[in-house]
Amino acid sequence: MIKLEREVGPQGMIDNKSQWKSDLQSAIVKYGSYKEIPEKEKQKLISFYNNEAVRNGLVKSSFGKCAFCECIPSEGGNIEIEHFRPKSKYPELTFEWNNFLPSCRKCNGSKDSHDTGVEPIINPYDIDPKNAFYFNDIEIKACDSNMKQLAEKTIEVCGLNTVRLWKPRAEILISLRIFSRSIEDATEELANADTDRKRANKVKKLREAIDTIEMLTYASEKYSSFCCDFLERSDAYFKAKQLVENA
Ligand SMILES: [Zn+2]
Repeated sequence: MIKLEREVGPQGMIDNKSQWKSDLQSAIVKYGSYKEIPEKEKQKLISFYNNEAVRNGLVKSSFGKCAFCECIPSEGGNIEIEHFRPKSKYPELTFEWNNFLPSCRKCNGSKDSHDTGVEPIINPYDIDPKNAFYFNDIEIKACDSNMKQLAEKTIEVCGLNTVRLWKPRAEILISLRIFSRSIEDATEELANADTDRKRANKVKKLREAIDTIEMLTYASEKYSSFCCDFLERSDAYFKAKQLVENA
């Protein structure tokens, strides 16, 4: 999970939300509660939030990734528009732009109608998750911080410690280890270079190896927080960075 910045909401949503909200509210009054609105009528009333303009705005702000697990849902299905405060419990927020998150089907399904008002979880648009989580091998953990409870609840509610995420993390971990090995090899070759020309070549090779591994940490890359966490704890990487900077 990485910090996300909201785009401006689509104009159609801004222009029409009061009307949509009021129509939904009238149905709630008519039937007694959100739950009691006949399904077909309810789907029609709430359908307005689910459109391309909303989806595109969310996808843009999250680089096409799920806001929770950082997978790229387009690889295995479309991104879904998730209501941070569930619309079943907070129908007044059904059309509220700031209540939307782009989510994969798995995270959306896992979170379901969890009441974030009662038991809060991290909304990466509002809270920087950087210091809330760390990775132990392929498992995500909550850091010992004032966000620990919040982070633990987020992991539980979104199912961030499950096989569906262990698998891609394990694959990336293999790549990261391979890149780390290249960095270590290039570092050693640099130490053994005995002429200026050889040294310049080895520095170039080391710089390329660093660039390659750093690309995995870009916000646009899937599971970038996992890759950042790996690099932040890699002595080989920091040593190599220093060598290149001093060359
Ligand atoms: Zn997800």
